Amino acid sequence: MAKIYTVVNQKGGVGKTTTSINLGAKLGEFGLRVLIVDLDPQANATASLGVERHKLNAGTYELIIGTGKASEIILHHARYKISLIPSTVNLSGAEIELIDLSDREKRLQKVLDPLREDYDYIIIDCPPSLGLLTLNGLIAARDGVIIPVQCEYLALEGLGQLTQTLQRIRQNLFPELTIRGVLLTMFDGRTNLSADVRAEVQKFFPNLVFEAFIPRSVRLAEAPSFGMPISVYAPESTGAKAYDALARELMIGDGFEIDLENKHG
Ligand code: ATP
Ligand code: MG
Repeated sequence: MAKIYTVVNQKGGVGKTTTSINLGAKLGEFGLRVLIVDLDPQANATASLGVERHKLNAGTYELIIGTGKASEIILHHARYKISLIPSTVNLSGAEIELIDLSDREKRLQKVLDPLREDYDYIIIDCPPSLGLLTLNGLIAARDGVIIPVQCEYLALEGLGQLTQTLQRIRQNLFPELTIRGVLLTMFDGRTNLSADVRAEVQKFFPNLVFEAFIPRSVRLAEAPSFGMPISVYAPESTGAKAYDALARELMIGDGFEIDLENKHG
């Protein structure tokens, strides 16, 4: 049964997409079966994996609206060892169209649950909002959410609103919703600010902050424009090593054995 994790933070530009694709690709390299779900109309995860969305007929939108079948929509990326449910332009209208549909918050959960047999990990990349798409992402997060927090001034801003949203969902829609971990991103070891943010975040989320953290890295910012995960674009970079450490921490926590023979594919 696949672990389903949703990468969420309504704040923009904190590293959700970077984490979704690079963690996903790393888990794939370790020999696990990974499905990445692009739930963001911006389609950054889709583009970052080198998939041209204007050439696609269907994606997340068709799946949650119910006009497309998973088996026909999922793309298998042999080189990056992941599968992808891409985001197409139609997804931009979904926030509004979902309002009138039955079970509007549970549609993604309903389509992903049957896919758990086929994967070890399903990772969902959310848009920077707490609208209906993100709500679908949260309710599909069978094994918890991963919250990237950018190490910057006012890093904690908005996290109260996010935890309140999680709490409301637990009360009303999905009692099992948990936080799998909080990930510090764009960490700059040279500044006191990053260390301060780490301390504050640890205080706000006791025992939930991943030991692995992601440094600020030019390579990580460059990789999407080449349509490559960092493990392919710059495998020796600090960013690649950080996502490697995160993948290992997650897998060990989840009880997977790390298959070193598969490490380099
Ligand atoms: P959005 O809210 O718009 O979906 P996001 O939370 O998904 O944004 P990303 O797209 O992952 O954030 O990252 C925002 C920008 O910062 C991107 O240009 C990305 O390449 C860059 N970036 C992400 N992580 C790092 C890092 N560790 N070091 C340097 N640049 C990074
Ligand atoms: Mg994003």
